[in-house]
Amino acid sequence: MSSDLVIVYHRQPYEEVEEGGKTVLKENKSPNGIVPTLKSFFGEAEHGAWVAWKLADDPSNPDFEERIEIDDAYGTYSVSRLPLTAGEVREFYHVTSKEAFWPILHSFKERYNYDPVDWANFRTVNWKFAEAAAKEAAEGALVWVHDYNLWLVPGYLRSMRPDLKIAFFHHTPFPAADMFNVLPWRKEIVASLLACDDVGFHIPRYAANFVSVARSLFDVDVTERVKVPENWISEGTALTERTYPSIIRHQDRDVAISVTPVGVDTAFIDERTRSEDAEEQAARIRDEMGDGKLIVSVGRTDYTKGGIEQLGSFERLLEEHPELHGKVRLMHVSVSANRGMTAYESIQNEIEQTAGRINGRFGTLEWQPVALISRAIPFAQLVAYYKAADVAWITPLADGMNLVCKEFCAARTDGDGVLVLSEFAGAAVELGEALIANPFSNRSMDRTILEALEMPGIERKRRMASLRKAVEESNVRNWAPGFLDTSRELIYAAE
Ligand code: UDP
Repeated sequence: MSSDLVIVYHRQPYEEVEEGGKTVLKENKSPNGIVPTLKSFFGEAEHGAWVAWKLADDPSNPDFEERIEIDDAYGTYSVSRLPLTAGEVREFYHVTSKEAFWPILHSFKERYNYDPVDWANFRTVNWKFAEAAAKEAAEGALVWVHDYNLWLVPGYLRSMRPDLKIAFFHHTPFPAADMFNVLPWRKEIVASLLACDDVGFHIPRYAANFVSVARSLFDVDVTERVKVPENWISEGTALTERTYPSIIRHQDRDVAISVTPVGVDTAFIDERTRSEDAEEQAARIRDEMGDGKLIVSVGRTDYTKGGIEQLGSFERLLEEHPELHGKVRLMHVSVSANRGMTAYESIQNEIEQTAGRINGRFGTLEWQPVALISRAIPFAQLVAYYKAADVAWITPLADGMNLVCKEFCAARTDGDGVLVLSEFAGAAVELGEALIANPFSNRSMDRTILEALEMPGIERKRRMASLRKAVEESNVRNWAPGFLDTSRELIYAAE
């Protein structure tokens, strides 16, 4: 059966778990991941399809089940699984996407690694995704492609199926031309994106940057520019824009540029936070802390997340404020996701060394200033830490959105707690009432963490009330990119 909505995302829409020698498909553990959000759109489609890759020892093995039908809480939909070899996945995902694209998207030119890229493989894998999507899509269907590792899919798909509506959403930052044009494949990538009907981003800055890149490479006119809504203007912060181009024209075609910041499922987090389990865990954590203050910092181990810079600031805080010794602890969760990749391993080592040095310099038998955790904490437990913490310290050097800071606010049903947030996280344009820090400035980092620890209750509550309101406004259950209207009907499909 062909589908009126086809979602193309590199991961499968469930987790494959081995149980009693059999592979069982289970809902993703993290409720705030993008997967459940995207699946929720299947509810409105007549029939949906999802295209992803699946590891295959031998892609030509006839036993490989390429297409399966799923019937779950989100409806009935097909999943088309592209059999990719470990080598293809490594080249397209770990090398081209993570070593070449990722650093540029996050403006780390010095980490960009061109040499190992196998561009032919990247094209082949993207072509396969496009072919699978073309096969699933009904006449005039909407195909919604996600993230930079599938940048070439829209162009290929347009050549295969001119009838389709094609939309693309970036989950990362998008840099301006000076940075993006470091990529030698820039023209091919942008030509593909210009084949879309809609190109989507988290915040106006990324949209504006994309248009600057497109204009540097092609004849592109901005035909509509809109004002940024008040609630996305965080006065004076690094990522705030006043207007952004919302329609551009290229080769007699209009391309809509949409801005839709992804949020978290506030109702779900609220329910989890109020559960007996979370209450008990949070009370136990608070009990252990006594009258000491708990700072939590949660993220993946990645140079973009600024973990080393943050630990450096914590070290200076303890150096300069001996009165805080024994009175403050930092729980630094840095989940090491990409073991085996040199760049990530060396950051993990540096984080471990810095945390060890801080504990060695200042710790006692009774008090270890840093609790470093490299494992992923299950969400149910994370909520208890959010609830028990005095401060959430979220200071990435670059981050497309950052959901942890939104989760923290959603979990503060008590209306208390301080959020210190980097102005280089996309979320900062919505969360201007956080204590905004510049992670490239030691002075700003050191001042804001101290201010957070000393903030009086009245101000904490005033700011948290406003943060919770902003997080509620971008509730992911209302998330609807430009081509979907607010009632979540597929306007393209209805045309
Ligand atoms: N997360 C988690 N356990 C951990 C650390 C993170 O469940 O130990 C989840 C967190 O709740 C959030 C997601 O991982 O939903 C991280 O999303 P974010 O947008 O902040 O960062 P990303 O990793 O996507 O760059």
